[in-house]
Amino acid sequence: MCVHGILSQSLFPRLPFSFLKIKRELTMSTEHPRIKREKKTLEAMVNIYCRAKHETHSELCPECTEFLAYAKMRLDKCPFQEKKSTCGKCLVHCYKPDMKERVKRVMRYSGPRMLLHHPGLALHHAWDGRIKPKKLAKKNLS
Ligand code: SF4
Ligand SMILES: [Zn+2]
Repeated sequence: MCVHGILSQSLFPRLPFSFLKIKRELTMSTEHPRIKREKKTLEAMVNIYCRAKHETHSELCPECTEFLAYAKMRLDKCPFQEKKSTCGKCLVHCYKPDMKERVKRVMRYSGPRMLLHHPGLALHHAWDGRIKPKKLAKKNLS
């Protein structure tokens, strides 16, 4: 066994497999800060919308929970990743039709209120919107 092998065995003797798996998943996380921020902005907007329209308090209603999960999944699969413009300006718009309607409703209501509730996120969003949206062949979408 090489020196590294001996060293790691003495430093991390018999760690349970699940711990090693979690550690590897954490270190392999490649989510870009831009995507993380987009998800945070989405969460904030859906929260504002759900509280006002569905009269919820600490948790989202099932409909908004479903929508948020879908929107986050689209971000994970976004072909532009950290180079993306805002979804509102996107030329591809990868959302399925009913979700596209839902996102419009959420944005229309929460967009103007973001400056008041989350000024930092709102300014970042406006800044991200300066990026020119790119075209992409539909076959490149999943
Ligand atoms: S709408 Fe456009 S920018 Fe937003 S996730 Fe889909 S492909 Fe990416
Ligand atoms: Zn709701």
